[in-house]
Amino acid sequence: MDTKLKGKNALITGSSRGIGKSIALALAKEGCNIVINDITPAMEEAEKTVDEIKALGVNAEAFAADVSDYESVEKMVTEIQKKFQKIDILVNNAGITKDRTLKKMAKEEWYDVININLNSIYNMTHLVLPLMPDGGRIISLSSIAGLGGNFGQTNYSATKAGIVGFTKSLSKELGKNKITVNAIAPGFIKSKMTEKIPVMVLEQLMELIPMKEMGLPEDVADLAVFLASEQSKYITGQVIRIDGGLGM
Ligand code: NDP
Repeated sequence: MDTKLKGKNALITGSSRGIGKSIALALAKEGCNIVINDITPAMEEAEKTVDEIKALGVNAEAFAADVSDYESVEKMVTEIQKKFQKIDILVNNAGITKDRTLKKMAKEEWYDVININLNSIYNMTHLVLPLMPDGGRIISLSSIAGLGGNFGQTNYSATKAGIVGFTKSLSKELGKNKITVNAIAPGFIKSKMTEKIPVMVLEQLMELIPMKEMGLPEDVADLAVFLASEQSKYITGQVIRIDGGLGM
């Protein structure tokens, strides 16, 4: 184990699987204690993730909360404070898609995505900030869809563009507290979320990606570790693309 982040505590939302889990494992490999969060039905998977992380020799625990629900997050953060006292690194990772063209999009498909992907960012960051008194890192998962738009994703793109504005504004508020605020904008990364993309669409996409392949959750995790580390202490308010060159 490396010890770059020894003694730090990181909270990663939606981290029982996918990119969130990879970020949790990568931070744990640097010596960081890990707080896993996911919704109640995912807790069995979350506990398995906790076991994998503990095997790396750090402290880890899973907490259920729906990040779109302020009261649910409030209860979770109270519990986390009792067990971990402080959070040094917050990764706003939880997110969903409910794709449809705007003409056909139901009200629920709009509101669910806005609530889980964007209102969650307020809930989490607002409630975790008091646990970050000695400087820290806030890293949120945006997307290239939030920078360039994507057909059938007005709801999703609106949330991911919202994260960009949030990141830039909050970085201006928290610089004096030595808290950096950055966003990661992935392109197409292998996960349950992108499993839904039809094979034909994927083949067309590969033509457009200079690297000619999808990214891995571990690629995103490596960037998150850098943004969480001391080495990135003068980087704030940035949105960093990790997309194999797709967004150029
Ligand atoms: P996954 O769908 O694999 O994982 C998302 C995680 O978030 C799941 O564990 C999910 O739990 C959890 N989650 C969903 N709703 C909530 C909620 N209300 N409260 C707490 N947790 C919740 O997605 P990825 O790992 O692919 O994506 C992670 C992030 O990266 C997302 O924000 C996504 O938008 C972003 N991103 C991903 C890209 C990709 O290509 N994969 C590209 C660009 C951005 P459950 O399974 O139980 O629903």
